Amino acid sequence: MKSKHQLLIPDYMKSFQCIGPDCEDPCCHGFNVDIDKQTYLKYIHTKDKELKAKFNTVLKLHKKTKNDLEYAYLEYPQNSKCPMLTDQGWCSIQQKLGEEALSLTCHSYPRVTNDILNQIEKGATTSCPEIARLALLNKDGIGFEQSEEDDSVRNAIGFTMSDKSPLTPYFWDLRIFTIELLQNRTYTLNDRMMILGLFCQKAAELIQDKQYNALPSLIAQYKHIYIETDQFRNFSAKINSKPLLQLNIFRKVYQVTEKIKATSLNYESLRLAAFAGFQLSPEDTENFTIETDEQQVNHYLHIIEKWQSVIEGDYEYIFENYLVNAIFINVFPHSGYKTLVEEFMMITAKYTLIRFMTYGVAEQLQEQFDEHDIVSCVQAFSKQLEHNQSFIKYINEQFVANECNNLARLAVLIKTI
Ligand code: SF4
Repeated sequence: MKSKHQLLIPDYMKSFQCIGPDCEDPCCHGFNVDIDKQTYLKYIHTKDKELKAKFNTVLKLHKKTKNDLEYAYLEYPQNSKCPMLTDQGWCSIQQKLGEEALSLTCHSYPRVTNDILNQIEKGATTSCPEIARLALLNKDGIGFEQSEEDDSVRNAIGFTMSDKSPLTPYFWDLRIFTIELLQNRTYTLNDRMMILGLFCQKAAELIQDKQYNALPSLIAQYKHIYIETDQFRNFSAKINSKPLLQLNIFRKVYQVTEKIKATSLNYESLRLAAFAGFQLSPEDTENFTIETDEQQVNHYLHIIEKWQSVIEGDYEYIFENYLVNAIFINVFPHSGYKTLVEEFMMITAKYTLIRFMTYGVAEQLQEQFDEHDIVSCVQAFSKQLEHNQSFIKYINEQFVANECNNLARLAVLIKTI
C-alpha cells in the first residue's frame, strides 16, 4: 500500500481539473517555463523522436544556473504559446510521456504548496482562470479541510515555516482570527478590512516591543469586540472618503503596468476597458487636482455610486474569497514583509486595485457586466501582476511614497464612498 501524508486544502481544490485547450488564458502562454535538472535529463534522453527533435531546438540550459529547480528552460518568443503544445492545445510532453514527465513547474502550477511546521498545505493561485472561477464564485465562502496525498506526489514547496521565528507559536491563532474575521458577513467587507487593519496595527506594536505572549489576549479582545459589541459597526461610515487620492494612486499604478511584459492574454484589454469606463487617458500621467479636475473626480464618484451596490453588495463575496485565498496561499501573517502593517498594506493594495479595475470595467460593459467580469479582473491581475516581483516591489514603493503605510491612509483607500 502506498504511504500517504495529511494535507490541508481549500475546498475548491477538490473540484479542480485543468481544462487545457478550453482555457482562455493558459499558463502555457506568457510564463517562462523553468525545467528542473531531473526533468532536463529525462528530456534529453527521451526515445521519442518527435519530442527529441523539438527539445533539440527549444530546450536550453540556464547560463548561470541558480539551483537544480531552474536548471534549464524552454525558449520561445515573447507573447507566443509554449512550443510543446499540440495544434489542439494539449501538452505534447504529457500526451506522450505522461503527467509524471512534466517539469516541477508545469506539474505544480497552479497549485501553491507550503510546509507549515511539517503540515503540507495546498491551495492555488487565481492566475489560473479555472481556479479563479472555482475559488471566487463560491457564494458560501472558501472552506478548508484535511485531505490525504500519496508521498510519491511531486510538490514544489514554496514556503517552509521554521519554528525559529518568535511569531511561530502564534501563527495559527493569527491566521484563524484573520480568516474568521474576513468571512464574518455580519460586517461589510470594507468594515472587516478596517478591523483587520486596526488589529494588525496593534499586533505590530506588540511584536515590535517583543511582547509576543500578549498576542493571544489581543486576539481575544478583538474577537469579543467585533462579535459581542457594536463598537466596530459601520466603521467605514465614520471615514471621510478621498476620491481624489484614490483616483491618483490607482490610475498611476495602472499606467505603469503598460510597460510590463504581457503574461496574461486578458489583462491589457481589461486595463483599457477600466480606463475607458472612468474616461481616463492611459497616457496622461499628470496628477489630478481638485481645482483643475473636478469634473473628472465627479465622474469617478458617479461611477462608484452607480455600481457600488452591485460590486460591493451583490458580488462582495468574490472579493472576500480573493482575500481569504490570498491570506492562505501567501501564509499571512508570514508573507515576508517587515511588519504586519506592511503585510496588511500589500493585501489592501491588491484588493483596492482589483476593485478599481472592476468599477471601470463595469461602467464600460454596462448591463453586460456580471460576476464573471470580476473573476476575469482578479485572474488577469493575478497573472499579469501578482507573479511579477518587480511590480509587487513597485506597488510597495508607491504606497509607501503616498504615505499609505498607516491605517488612517489605508482606510480611505478601502472605503470607496
Ligand atoms: S491556467 Fe489553469 S486551466 Fe488554464 S491551462 Fe493552465 S492549469 Fe489549465
